[in-house]
Order: sequence, then C-alpha cells, then structure tokens
Amino acid sequence: MPRQEILDLTQQYTQPFRITKGAGFSLSDYNPDETCGVKDKSEASKLLREGIEWLAHEQDMLYAQDRWSLLLVFQAMDAAGKDSTIKHVMSGVNPQGCQVFSFKQPSQEDLSHDFMWRYSNRLPERGKIGIFNRSYYEEVLVVRVHEAILQRQKLPQSLIGANIWDERLADIAHFEDYLTRQGVVILKFFLYVSRDEQKKRFLKRLDTPEKNWKFSGTDVRERKFWNDYMRAYEEAIRATASENAPWFVVPADHRWFTRLVVAAAIVEAVERLELTYPRVDEEKKKELATVRAALEQET
Ligand code: ATP
Ligand code: MG
Repeated sequence: MPRQEILDLTQQYTQPFRITKGAGFSLSDYNPDETCGVKDKSEASKLLREGIEWLAHEQDMLYAQDRWSLLLVFQAMDAAGKDSTIKHVMSGVNPQGCQVFSFKQPSQEDLSHDFMWRYSNRLPERGKIGIFNRSYYEEVLVVRVHEAILQRQKLPQSLIGANIWDERLADIAHFEDYLTRQGVVILKFFLYVSRDEQKKRFLKRLDTPEKNWKFSGTDVRERKFWNDYMRAYEEAIRATASENAPWFVVPADHRWFTRLVVAAAIVEAVERLELTYPRVDEEKKKELATVRAALEQET
C-alpha cells in the first residue's frame, strides 16, 4: 500500500485521540466507549491483522538501519488492558528487536537514585522498539495521589515544595525533548477505561478461576482515588503532550478498539520515518561479488 494510503487509513483511528498540545486538554472531551464507527470485533480484527503484518515489515528496516528507536509508553488504571494490548499489537514483531519492561513499586536501589534513574537505564537501544508497561509517569500519578510514596523517595525535605509536581512534569517534558533529539520516537498511550467497565472486569476476575490470580484487593481500594488519578492524568497530559511526544487518549471500554488505535498510532509513527534498508556502497558491492564468485566455485 502506498504511504499516503496507509496514513489516510491510520489517521481515522489516531487523529481523534492524539494530543500534541496540552493547553486546554480535558478528559471530559473523551469517551472511553468510543469506537469511531467500527462495528465490532471482527471488523477491528481484520484491520489489526493488517497493521501487525505491516509493522513486522517496518521493524525489520528499523533494526537494519540501527538509527531510530521507538519508545512506547503505556499508562492506565488497572484492568484497562495494558498487558493484552501489548501482547496483541506486538504479536508480529521479531522478539529480538523488542524490549518490554514493566515498572512496579521501586526497589531500595531505585530509591537511592533520582527518580528517572531506573527508567533511563531501560531505554531502547537504537533500532529497537522499547515498551514501558507503566513508566516515569507513575512519578506524577501514583506518587502524586499517595504522597506517602513521595516521602519514601529520600528527597531532601527542602526540595519538597508546593511546585514539586509542576517541576517533575517540566523535567519529564525536557527529558522527552532530549530523547527526541537523540532519535527516540516517543508515543504515550493512556488507555482510558471507565470506572464502570473497570468494575465489570474486576467482577469477571473474581468469577473466573483462571483470572483469579490477576485479582488484587489493592486495585479495588484504588478505586476510591479514581478522581484524584483522573486529575493527575489530566495534568500530566497537559504538561507533557507535544508534537514530538504525543499522548493518545485511547478509548478502553472495548478491548478490540483499544488494540486498533494503538496499532494504528505505531504504524503511523513508523511510516513517517520513511524507513528504507541501508544502502550498500560500491566497495561493499565489490565484496559481495567476490564472495558470490567464491561460493559458486566451491566444489
Ligand atoms: P497487572 O495488575 O496488570 O499485572 P500492574 O502494572 O498493575 O499490572 P502490579 O504489580 O499490579 O502491576 O502493580 C504495580 C504497582 O506498582 C502499581 O500499583 C503502580 O502504581 C505501582 N508503581 C509503579 N511505579 C511506581 C513508582 N514509581 N512508585 C510507586 N509505585 C509505583
Ligand atoms: Mg495491577
């Protein structure tokens, strides 16, 4: 498919959810239930399959070029579908070109460093796709909602001022500018699930023995802080959405639609890089010809 056709197709699913300017952003303008006219799972699956195949092809060039890398940041409330989205969207890519990291509560070693330390240690190498399942954004989300966590971060007390969250957000925005200038293409996904749908999914985890292991009482307790989390997400998106590091507020009440939007956003971003296989220079061509001759002469 020609580049422009691919972009026309992906834009249908990305443009309504992409935020590149934070000013004035409000979550109330978005609907977790949205499906952009896609009727059902089977229609979405067909498009998703095409996206996955295409991505596998592009990833090969990304790897061969060894210049750009891709950082995909996934943030969401529990049960919004981060894990399954990552599993589906990345199902076609070569595992050698892909690195997934899930960030949980920080270790003692993490807490002995600046907050970005553990994340910057895990950035993707050139040519690779890095996936952050939770990320440095937790530092302005869960840490903001539960200030007791901030107290554990061993910061000098005089640095914990009234502006600490704005300062952190500015630091994150600068960090992303820096990465962009290093050839890291950043896409940030907030899987936006509704509080009602989360409740349904938790109940399903309780009802299905195979899903019991996923159930955690802590997740349910966090529901009490839903509004605080939404406010923190809103502020994070306002302060860090940019042309270079856009946010996507992905409707997450229908898993099949979530996957489609995420796949479309990745396809689109990589397509814009206009990747090609590295060109072989004259010297290399001569070398290839010599090797061919030698191989053909083998008895
Ligand atoms: P799942 O529940 O789907 O397996 P998850 O990402 O929710 O995946 P959990 O082990 O359930 O994984 O939870 C990880 C927890 O770690 C989350 O509650 C998250 O808020 C917390 N966390 C992540 N980063 C930080 C951080 N920097 N400081 C404190 N807590 C953090
Ligand atoms: Mg969890």
